[in-house]
Amino acid sequence: MGQRFDPQTWLKRVFPKGIEKSGLLNDKLEIKKTYLKALVRATSVSQRQLTQEIYKTVDFYLEKEERLKAQGVRAFKQEALNGQALLTERIKNFLVYSEVQAQKKAHKGRMYRWLPSSAKEPDPEHQLLYGKVFREGEGDKEGYMPGERWGCQCGIEWLDDDEAFKEFAGRKYSGYKGQKAVTKLMRERQGYVPNAFKNKEIGNISLIWGNEKIGFAHLIEGRSKQFPIEEFLKDFSSVVKEGKKYPNKYSKTRFDLWDKKRKKLVVIETVYGENKKINFPVTMVRQKNRPKR
Ligand SMILES: [Zn+2]
Repeated sequence: MGQRFDPQTWLKRVFPKGIEKSGLLNDKLEIKKTYLKALVRATSVSQRQLTQEIYKTVDFYLEKEERLKAQGVRAFKQEALNGQALLTERIKNFLVYSEVQAQKKAHKGRMYRWLPSSAKEPDPEHQLLYGKVFREGEGDKEGYMPGERWGCQCGIEWLDDDEAFKEFAGRKYSGYKGQKAVTKLMRERQGYVPNAFKNKEIGNISLIWGNEKIGFAHLIEGRSKQFPIEEFLKDFSSVVKEGKKYPNKYSKTRFDLWDKKRKKLVVIETVYGENKKINFPVTMVRQKNRPKR
């Protein structure tokens, strides 16, 4: 099992219990030093970041205090201090967000599994993502990872490349070569064919069904809107085998194979996850002219 991050469990460990009981601020609305130190020690945020975040909220209290004063309300300080539960929530969310940023840095390019939320009322949109595998930096519709959206208590399980690849690629269909591999996956609509093609310049290329985001499934979904797909794919194997290698404009880990005769271009991904080396097609387009280098 990969390394896990669950916001609630993590907060239980790093968030001093006293804050919940007696508040983070003293009656002058200053941060209690012991808590500030404890939080900085246990998390990835600096004293400056934390102080800044806390005083954003304190400023809000102070404004409120001024307003209440102007209205002649007494015991305004008590009123403002009553808002400390809100401040505590706010700081917790901020800490979780910051921790996810630190983990993203530490696990750059790695794959992760979306874990269920421990919130009482989990976000239904996030519930649909439970168990799914994403790359670091990707996630829900807005691109948020667990814990990045305000109040999100979903968790992360960091996967190693082999583990993630197994889930991504699924069932292995060995022994299908060239166009036979294409037909096989079109029929199965899942799994992968290792070393389905051999290109002179770059060697073995596997065919992976994948998902709507990447792989053969993605290619088929995209092109089906433009062309009758079986017709479009009938020379797929020849393009991959005979195409000449060109750098890909958008990605360092990809390159293009351009087949002058068939006027088609296939994009090959060379890495899965952090650094598992595997060549697999991610798209094919019609391309009359030689790609610009
Ligand atoms: Zn969530």
